Amino acid sequence: MKRFRKGIRLPEFKDRTLASIQIHLPSSPSVVTIPLNHKANGPLAPCVQEGDPVCVGTKLAEGSDQNSVPVYSSVSGCVSKVCQDLIQIESDYADRLDRSIKVREEIPSDASQLIEMIREAGMVDLGGSGIPIHTRLLDARSSGVEFVIVNGCESEPFLTADHVLVMNYPAEILKGAELIRIACGAKRAVIAVERNKREAAELLNSKNYNLKIKTIETMMLPVRYPQDSEGVLAETVTDKVMDPNSSIISQGVLVEHVATAFGVYEAIYLRKPLYERVVTVSGPCFAEPKNMWARTGVPAIELIRESKGFLRDPDRVIFGGPMTGQAISDLQTPVTMDVTGIVALPHELVPSEEEEACIRCGLCVDVCPEALVPETLVRAVRIHNDRLAQEYDIDACTECGCCAYVCPSKIPIIRVIQEGKRNVCEKTASTSVPTLHHRPLRAVGAMTAGASHSELP
Ligand code: SF4
Ligand code: SF4
Repeated sequence: MKRFRKGIRLPEFKDRTLASIQIHLPSSPSVVTIPLNHKANGPLAPCVQEGDPVCVGTKLAEGSDQNSVPVYSSVSGCVSKVCQDLIQIESDYADRLDRSIKVREEIPSDASQLIEMIREAGMVDLGGSGIPIHTRLLDARSSGVEFVIVNGCESEPFLTADHVLVMNYPAEILKGAELIRIACGAKRAVIAVERNKREAAELLNSKNYNLKIKTIETMMLPVRYPQDSEGVLAETVTDKVMDPNSSIISQGVLVEHVATAFGVYEAIYLRKPLYERVVTVSGPCFAEPKNMWARTGVPAIELIRESKGFLRDPDRVIFGGPMTGQAISDLQTPVTMDVTGIVALPHELVPSEEEEACIRCGLCVDVCPEALVPETLVRAVRIHNDRLAQEYDIDACTECGCCAYVCPSKIPIIRVIQEGKRNVCEKTASTSVPTLHHRPLRAVGAMTAGASHSELP
């Protein structure tokens, strides 16, 4: 195993949601809003009309394009609104399941059949990107990948949804990982977890002792952010240097998430489409932070109420982790299947916007896991020199946030890099870049011994 030298050690803040490994089951939401053009999935055409009755798991919309996946209802009730961008369902609180959801008698071993079933179940990457995973499986198959890495590292502060998922469903995750391996034609699968989840790794090993899936092993990795970044993870597990200018899949490795492996298990073994996932609802502002099942389209406020609301007003509410997540301005925002958590932060954990001049300390360079020079990228973008930004490999930035976290001058490095990527994209007529609306939490590190750069091992 290769140890990646850069990155940072972050405070974990995971204790409160790991006090119990139980996954809370919230009551049925009154209304859900399902987007029809979300991230890489869409546009989708509705297959229901206003007034139609639906069950949990009824297909709501699908695309004509083979790269998209259908979306399904997460409640039973009545379709109350259908428009170009969304479908709204009013719940009858009965949670009647669609008749298509039933245990599959025979599990196919044909890769093409598995991939089509995964597509039909609406499976997207549950690690945060929201990309339909059948496209990644097809790509991996045609590239002849050797390795599947199932990412259970969860290295961002506060998030513990993956950890409790493994603790509750180890056998299902092992079976899902094996299905992903068969579907993409890889020889081996590795379930990677950080060393702070030793009991999860031991549980996976003991379950596999009974299941005897010889192609899967568990690997424990150092606790370091961003250990779960695709490139870093592939390098650490395979002990090979990955070329940042080509995709990880084309270099023989497919990285999928533990939650995705669990979703694939449910899709194949139970014929259950994707309409719910586990999320962490946490942060110092919550009265009772916990891990819970979140249905697609549920307003964030309903999950916040399930955690007994806020003890004090948050300065920022984020979908995802504090390093890579996206701040939301409206608590009615519907949760989608790429949301790994809802984190509410008080004022003292939100970085100040008062930027100072770069002092050329080089800390950002020291921590960048992609070996970039963030300080030069910032300068290139600010003087509108796209050529220099490209020369310094702006597109290789994974937006992990390590540089902004350690920057003593509070320079919003990611925001500037994102702007630079957009400029380059516009000029090369390439695809758009997702936007982060907040800076990673420098203040988090300031609070905690062991988090500052000078103390990095
Ligand atoms: S430049 Fe990009 S990849 Fe490097 S530390 Fe900053 S955000 Fe991460
Ligand atoms: S960490 Fe901040 S102050 Fe230091 S070199 Fe990088 S951008 Fe400049």
